[in-house]
Amino acid sequence: MDVRQMFRKRVKSSLVAASLAAFVVTTAAQTPIGAPKNKYSPADDVKLGLEAAQQVEQELPVMRDPQVNGYLSAIGRRLVESIPPEFQHPEFRYSFTGVNLREINAFALPGGPMFIYRGMIEKAHNEGEVAGVMAHELSHVALRHGTAQQTKATPYAIGQIAGQIAGAIIGGRTGNIIAQGSQFGIGTYFMKFSREYEKQADLLGCRIMAAAGYDPRDMANVFKTIQQESGPGAPQWMSDHPDPGNRYAYINQEAQLLRVPPNPRRVTPEFQSVQGHLRTLTPAPSSEEVARNRNAGRNTGGGGAPGTPPSTGNIPRPDSRFTTYTEGNLFRVSVPSNWRELADTNAVTFAPDGAYGSINGSSVFTHGVEVGVSRNETHDLQTATNELIQALRQSNPRLSSPGGYDRASIGGRPGLHTVLSNISDATGGQEVIDVYTTQLSDGSLFYMLGVAPRDEYSAYSGVFRRVAGSIQFAK
Ligand SMILES: [Zn+2]
Repeated sequence: MDVRQMFRKRVKSSLVAASLAAFVVTTAAQTPIGAPKNKYSPADDVKLGLEAAQQVEQELPVMRDPQVNGYLSAIGRRLVESIPPEFQHPEFRYSFTGVNLREINAFALPGGPMFIYRGMIEKAHNEGEVAGVMAHELSHVALRHGTAQQTKATPYAIGQIAGQIAGAIIGGRTGNIIAQGSQFGIGTYFMKFSREYEKQADLLGCRIMAAAGYDPRDMANVFKTIQQESGPGAPQWMSDHPDPGNRYAYINQEAQLLRVPPNPRRVTPEFQSVQGHLRTLTPAPSSEEVARNRNAGRNTGGGGAPGTPPSTGNIPRPDSRFTTYTEGNLFRVSVPSNWRELADTNAVTFAPDGAYGSINGSSVFTHGVEVGVSRNETHDLQTATNELIQALRQSNPRLSSPGGYDRASIGGRPGLHTVLSNISDATGGQEVIDVYTTQLSDGSLFYMLGVAPRDEYSAYSGVFRRVAGSIQFAK
């Protein structure tokens, strides 16, 4: 950053002249930020984001309320103008849209589209908190983290990534991970940022906030608000934006290095007015309620449709003939021909009729396999697999621990296999979970979970082995 640009920024944010010297000194002490390596062009970000946004708009209850969207856009514009010049991309198309959902959540897509849940505005203590989440999201966009993450991963066509991202967002995270898989699904892989990127977004977000007239400490505060107000379990936002460690402390520390305006925007009349306006509207539904209604609407019968519990009757035995499915550019897998691919969930599930459905808004399956990819920051397969099982246990508390691992080969890569037991949410009976894992070239964990009731397992273990053996990676 050269001094001329700093000076222009200083005029723009109406800082007092007397502080120029202090400004220069403290600027030099700020934690440096560099956008990560990225093999995509900014134009790719725009294309990808717009495509994903279109799908989001079809699937999520976006608000058409001019007061809400006008308010969010005013905050958004203020923040965008305060992005440091080196991270500005003139071709980006920023937009700020409310979503009529109850949770405290927000997400931004590559190239600029941002969606802010109504619960975020309702639960915020002041405008600075709303701006804090938005500045953090905006920083991911400006640093082009979505496509940078792609750069590290398997090469995908842009159109395919758009679908994956939309799937991750729309699927949301319901209670039962084994069943829904969204926390570990392929789609989520593109939205869940590494801790390194999180810290960058926090630090750049601080800088943007201060330059836009906000107190960066409100970003630290809103993360606390999200934790406190989100009810049981880790909130979706926290799961997509994991805490790099000491988040609250380093944000406050960075704020001390920045020139925070003497009267930062906090409880503004606009903030009070928009909160008052929201109180006059019908309360927003939860994501789970919306997903349930959507799935019920798609229920075409045929047994085991999403929105109804799985059948407790007899499930047809796996066909000995197999059918091959290609999942994006990522992998191919063959499964018994009488299993269906469940496209509504965002990890890929294959199950026979009657063996899948939903209970209390969570998708569950009693027979079949789920295949997905999980972000992994450890470099050893066994530790990564243990972490996956640990995470599965959060929503499946009666899932057993692995007794040990066998070696397995998955798509020509060295893998692990272990057998766990669980109590099925759907039937209350004992079930067996076969876990197969391997690491992809970018280090992420690829997994396959085979699920069958204990008394039918002997008819399934060979099928699971055959499915795992059929997996072929694109590269
Ligand atoms: Zn983040």
